[in-house]
Amino acid sequence: MNLSFRIFLALILSVIAGLIAGPESLPFIKWWIAPVGTMFINLIKMMIVPVVFTSLIVGMTGLGDTKKLGRIGIKTLGLYLATTAVAIVIGFGVAGISHPGVGTALSGGASMTVKEAPSIMQVFVAMIPANPVQSMAKADILPVIIFALFIGVGIIQVGGERGQRLIDFFDSCAEVCYKVIAIVMQLAPIGVFALLLPVVAQNGPKVLLPLLSVILTVAVACVLHAVLVYSALASVIGKMSPVKFFRGMSEAMLIAFTTCSSSATLPVNMKNAQEKLGVSRDVASFVLPLGATINMDGTALYMGVCSLFIANVFGIDLSLQQMMMIVMTGTLASIGTAGVPGAGLIMLAMVLQSVGLPIEGLALVAGIDRVLDMFRTCINVTGDGAVAVVINETEKIEGNAREAELV
Ligand code: ASP
Repeated sequence: MNLSFRIFLALILSVIAGLIAGPESLPFIKWWIAPVGTMFINLIKMMIVPVVFTSLIVGMTGLGDTKKLGRIGIKTLGLYLATTAVAIVIGFGVAGISHPGVGTALSGGASMTVKEAPSIMQVFVAMIPANPVQSMAKADILPVIIFALFIGVGIIQVGGERGQRLIDFFDSCAEVCYKVIAIVMQLAPIGVFALLLPVVAQNGPKVLLPLLSVILTVAVACVLHAVLVYSALASVIGKMSPVKFFRGMSEAMLIAFTTCSSSATLPVNMKNAQEKLGVSRDVASFVLPLGATINMDGTALYMGVCSLFIANVFGIDLSLQQMMMIVMTGTLASIGTAGVPGAGLIMLAMVLQSVGLPIEGLALVAGIDRVLDMFRTCINVTGDGAVAVVINETEKIEGNAREAELV
C-alpha cells in the first residue's frame, strides 16, 4: 500500500474514530494521542531550515556560471519568478472568492495566536539577517533564504575547485535532507491520525466539508492559471496557438498528474518540447531541467490557497502584509521545493511558519495532499513548457537579428 493511500486512510480513520469518540473522550485523547501528533509536527519542523538552506544553494549553484548563462538565464529566471508570483495571486484570488474553510472555525490542536503584522519596511529590514545563525535557530525563514541566496552567489563566483567542493558538499547535504524527510513522511499516517483525532473529536462532522472546498479551489485556480497565463505566454510571445501548446504538452501533463513528480516527468517534457512544440535542443536542455527544479507555479498556487484555507479554518484574518509575505515566501519556497511527490507539503510548513499561521493546519491538508499534488505538479510542468516556448521564440528572433547584422 503506498504512502499517500496510507495517509488518506489515516485521515478517514481519524474522522471515524473522532466522530465515535466525541468530546467526552477529549481528556484521554489530549493526554495520550495529541502528543504523538506534536512529535510528528516537530519532526517536520526539524527539517525546514536544513532543507531550505541546502536545497536553495544547490538550486542556485546548479545555474553554474551566471555570466556565461547571461541573457537566457536572466530571461528564464525572470519568467519563472513572475509566473510563480502570478500563480500565488491567482490562488489567493480564487480562494478569496470560494472561501475554503470559512465558517468552520475549528478549535483544538492549534494555537490561535497570530503574530502582529509588521509594516512593509519592517518586513524588508527583517529579511536581511544580521546574524544568520540566530535566524536559523528561530526558524526565521525569509532571512535564511536570503542568506542561502548570498552564499549561492558567493559559491558561483568563487568557482573552480574550491567552489565545486562546496557545491558537492551542499548537494550531499540536500540529498540527506530529502532522505530524512522521506523517513519522516513514512510516519505521516500516524502523525496525521494523532493530529486530526482531537480536532474531529472536538468539532464533529463539520471538519469534512472544508477539505472538498480546498480541492475544488486548487483545481479551479490551476485551470485558470493555465488558461490565462500559459495561453497568453504561448500565443502572445511564443507565437504558438494555445491549442497546439496544450496538445503538445498533454502527454507530459498526464505523466505529471499521475506521478506527482516534475523530476520524473522531465524526460517526457524534454522529448515533447522538441518534437511537438519545436523547441530547440539547446533551449530545452537548459530551460526544462532548471524549471523542473525551481519553477513550481502549481506548488506556489497551492501554498496561497492552503494558507488562506488554514487561516479560515482557524478563524484567523490575514492582513495585507501577511498576504504579501505569503506571496514572497511562497515564491521562494517553491524554488526550494524538490520535484518529487509531497515536497510542497513540507515547504507549506515553512510558509505557514513565516506568517505565524498554525502549522497544525498541515494535518488537514496532508490527508488530501496527493490529490492536490496531482493538480499542482501538472501545472508545474506546463509552466516549464510555456517558458521554454517563449525563450525559444525570443532567442530565434535574437538569433535572426544577429545574423542580419552580420550580413
Ligand atoms: N510534486 C511536486 C512536483 O514534483 C512538488 C510539490 O510537492 O509541490 O512538481
